[in-house]
Amino acid sequence: MIRFLFADRDGTLIADKHYLSDPDKVELIPHAAEALKLLQDNGAKTLVVTNQSGIGRGYFTEKDLFACQDRLAELLAEQGAALLDYAYCPHAPEENCACRKPLAGMWKQLSEKYGINSQDCAMAGDKKEDVLFGISAGFRYSCLVLTGKGQKTAEEYGLPCDSGIREFSADLLGAVQGQTKCFVAPDLRSFAEFLITR
Ligand SMILES: [Mg+2]
Ligand SMILES: [Zn+2]
Repeated sequence: MIRFLFADRDGTLIADKHYLSDPDKVELIPHAAEALKLLQDNGAKTLVVTNQSGIGRGYFTEKDLFACQDRLAELLAEQGAALLDYAYCPHAPEENCACRKPLAGMWKQLSEKYGINSQDCAMAGDKKEDVLFGISAGFRYSCLVLTGKGQKTAEEYGLPCDSGIREFSADLLGAVQGQTKCFVAPDLRSFAEFLITR
């Protein structure tokens, strides 16, 4: 089984509120906390990797981001779940940084900090960039969840989205099919259930 789940934040763990900056508006996606709890009970830790271009665009500050992160930790704790850590990209797309997903900068940062092997990892997120991040990091699994913008993403790229966990080829996202197995899952909880049986 994997030892680390890398999870996108908006649309995957919490409701996507479009440049969220107010901690009072942080709202967990149903069953997301259960997913993390299930993984941690089975020995896997979760790290968040989130693109926060609202900082680079001047819509909110890092302080706002930290407040939202604290609120997220509080809501998770109410259900017995916790994050190991998180990384964020504060840049606007035109800054051409190395840390904005789909690039693997945040993987580099966290893997060096914790000495993580990519084959012990899975990625989950609601956008194409999230799945591509898992592929470029060389994770064992990379999953599109159908919460947030996931349904729209699946329709756009012709990914299976009937029900349950479905594997798909990375070429559908224009990526080279390497060692990473790509999946679609209805939500984070169903992906976590799948992961613990592996
Ligand atoms: Mg997202
Ligand atoms: Zn960046």
